[in-house]
Amino acid sequence: MSAIAFDGKAVLVTGAASGIGRAAALSFAREGARVAVSDVDAAGGEETAATIRQAGGEAVFIRADVSKSLDVQALVAGVVERYGRLDCAFNNAGIEIEHRPLAEADEATFDRIMNVNVKGVWLCMKYEITQMLAQGGGVIVNTASVAGLVGAPTQPIYAASKHAVVGMTRTAAAEYGRAGIRINAVCPGIIRTPMMDRAIEREPRRAKAMEKVHPIGRLGEAQEIANAALWLCSDSASFVTGHQLAVDGGLTAI
Ligand code: NAD
Repeated sequence: MSAIAFDGKAVLVTGAASGIGRAAALSFAREGARVAVSDVDAAGGEETAATIRQAGGEAVFIRADVSKSLDVQALVAGVVERYGRLDCAFNNAGIEIEHRPLAEADEATFDRIMNVNVKGVWLCMKYEITQMLAQGGGVIVNTASVAGLVGAPTQPIYAASKHAVVGMTRTAAAEYGRAGIRINAVCPGIIRTPMMDRAIEREPRRAKAMEKVHPIGRLGEAQEIANAALWLCSDSASFVTGHQLAVDGGLTAI
């Protein structure tokens, strides 16, 4: 991707203190974007923004809990105040806190996952789209998962939340296509990030099995998801909208 791709563009990345979000924020900045780095984790988010600035890029950290309406409203307003507009948004913040079959899960876990993964993406899109309509267009990419395309045993609530992200992505793409807003989802397979490190720590025996579910024979890297998010946000994907791009080493092919 050439440096022209995002030169001067104002880009927001949520969940950018860690993993996929951090890799994407750094990549957008390398391609010339002005990046608003957002997360609930202020230390990690500030670190991502500082890394971008140390490399000569432009970044600001804005703390927001994506499940809180006032936070998300202030986040989008903060990006516009700083950069004048919002060209691209990568709604990537998410949690995976569930490791039991459906009948063993509790209500608090259901509410927490849905609040962050579903309400969070909805709130982000709501305020981003409002801004993009006012400025005449924009691009949104939401992080779903292969668990948004197929079932995910021991993660039924997470799978429901990611299927919801896919449903919102498709619907909003249809609603706002004519207004110049493209909206897509990226669906990662199992990716080596702090989220996955925690899962492997819990059950070290599962590490090999996790590799094996991908016909490519390994786990994915955060950078490989960032690459897909950048492509979907770029003008190279100008006729792509309402799509769920599996970046999964072939996991959903079999
Ligand atoms: P990660 O835990 O490394 O990063 C997630 C980030 O989101 C963290 O920095 C965390 O602080 C932030 N976050 C959590 N709750 C938040 C909230 N309420 N508001 C704002 N920020 C919040 O995980 P990751 O693997 O980089 O995951 C990023 C996204 O990718 C998530 O949506 C996840 O569901 C999805 N995903 C990950 C994998 C994988 O295998 N790692 C696979 C498929 C999908």
